[in-house]
Amino acid sequence: MSEEKTQPVSHFIKEIIKKDLEDNKNGSRVHTRFPPEPNGYLHIGHAKSICLNFGIAKEFNGLCNLRFDDTNPVKEELEYVESIKEDVRWLGFDWEDRLYFASDYFEQFYQAALQLIKDGLAYVDHLTADQIREYRGTLTQPGKPSPYRDRTIEENLALFEKMKNGDFEEGECILRAKIDMASPNINMRDPAVYRILKASHHRTGDKWCIYPMYDFAHGLEDSIEKITHSICTLEFEDHRPLYDWFLEKLNVFHPQQIEFARLNLTYTVMSKRKLLRLVKENIVSGWDDPRMPTIAGLRRRGYTPEAIRTFCEMIGVGKSESTVDLALLEYCLREDLNKRAPRAMAVLRPLKVTITNYPEGKVEQLEALNNPEDESMGVRMIPFSRVIYIEQDDFMENPPKKYFRLSPGAEVRLKHAYYITCDEVLKDSSGQPVELLCSYDPATKGGWSQDGRKVKGTLHWVSVDHAVDAEVRIYENLFNKPNPEDAEEGKDFLSNLNPNSLEIIADSKVEPGLMEMPARTSLQFLRHGYFTIDPDSKNGKLVFNRAVSLKDTWAKIQRNTSE
Ligand code: ATP
Ligand code: MG
Repeated sequence: MSEEKTQPVSHFIKEIIKKDLEDNKNGSRVHTRFPPEPNGYLHIGHAKSICLNFGIAKEFNGLCNLRFDDTNPVKEELEYVESIKEDVRWLGFDWEDRLYFASDYFEQFYQAALQLIKDGLAYVDHLTADQIREYRGTLTQPGKPSPYRDRTIEENLALFEKMKNGDFEEGECILRAKIDMASPNINMRDPAVYRILKASHHRTGDKWCIYPMYDFAHGLEDSIEKITHSICTLEFEDHRPLYDWFLEKLNVFHPQQIEFARLNLTYTVMSKRKLLRLVKENIVSGWDDPRMPTIAGLRRRGYTPEAIRTFCEMIGVGKSESTVDLALLEYCLREDLNKRAPRAMAVLRPLKVTITNYPEGKVEQLEALNNPEDESMGVRMIPFSRVIYIEQDDFMENPPKKYFRLSPGAEVRLKHAYYITCDEVLKDSSGQPVELLCSYDPATKGGWSQDGRKVKGTLHWVSVDHAVDAEVRIYENLFNKPNPEDAEEGKDFLSNLNPNSLEIIADSKVEPGLMEMPARTSLQFLRHGYFTIDPDSKNGKLVFNRAVSLKDTWAKIQRNTSE
């Protein structure tokens, strides 16, 4: 793992942990966990939680578990389990031998539920789902007790046994905790503990037809694993009294739940349900589509683990909901790749240039620095010859003032090569330039003139005979509103899709050395941005994803807000 440029900063969770260590709470142990539900791929919001949980363990000499919270058999799949493991590892974290599945604790959950029943703290309720909702009351009105609330312990044990044996249908009855139907906290109004789901589980098969509810299971999972600090997002704040109630009543090891504000990003949806819709409705090519905010999507796009970790460090950890500007994430990637990505030349939309005074058949290998930010990255040789491609955009027949690129009679520098002057423009029948005839000055080798003559424009180029074919995919935000949820009446977030989020440039040309580079290599294409080689590359044609442009919109936002 390379060194982060951002030093870890403190935040309220670290302060709680420091205090606990001082007080010798938990025997001075720090043990956290990252508990994804395997019902989708991980996204950048999860990365915040991963960096937080694994980061704290590392900083305080503690441990962090990876635990799959797989208590709902209906939406969970093995594919998700595998992708989550891959993504956590790729982000640079290691759970060592502490990979757990909540489903491995099903028997313990069941025994705990029996314990609650035996202590008179849980009952089997035969109200329908609608009735339960009705009896629960509202924020302003207390609930009322179910007519089944006072069943005897023996009756409840027998009924729960029947639930477990599959003698009831789904929805016929549930096991509820007996707490307080008048509690101002609705979560405490006799919440469900177990429900009947006649579904196969991806790990336990058909062994169970009753499954524990999240609030009951999660605290027990933490307790079984002797987690000291159970860090979760703010929406669980109102569930904390219930988390505490279960652990207290069961008289088991009691971790401390601490809530922090989830990450929201502009132009991004983060709910797994919505991301699943984008995938299922083929709006994107899959969970790893480079426009997705998933870790797999960001990786394919060209994000590095370092950039994501730096981002998670920079956004901090707090208690109030906010939305982070996507430009900050892009800034983190640009900063990282600026230091590490080798430079290369790619002509996205080629225009042929023949250098008429350059000998036919001659090829020169010209030296180019791989990264001016880091000379230790060395040099490479690029072939130069009589016919090259430049960018269509780098030529204008009738240029405005201050146009420093190529135009008839103008002289420019070809990066790493020579000065050339445009002598003649060849056009097709519609008047479009198809080829430029230029002449070069042999005394400007390397791109520097000996007589001190200066040119303002520097163009990138590739040699026609040596260039490699490439497809270049340029991505824009998937949504065209900073808050994609902000949809018109009767419409949803899909109405805010950006129709131009993907542009494919099919006939680009890149320098030959790139052919040898493995998929996922990051590069800076001069003047175009940072790109990565996509695994779709095949048959001599490279496919590149633009990870991020060179334009630093974050610096601009910073400047505007500090003015
Ligand atoms: P869903 O979208 O299905 O409600 P989830 O995003 O909460 O699910 P989980 O798999 O339960 O997904 O999340 C695993 C962990 O990641 C949880 O501890 C959760 O709090 C945390 N997490 C999820 N989304 C974010 C986010 N946007 N920012 C920070 N942490 C998050
Ligand atoms: Mg969740």
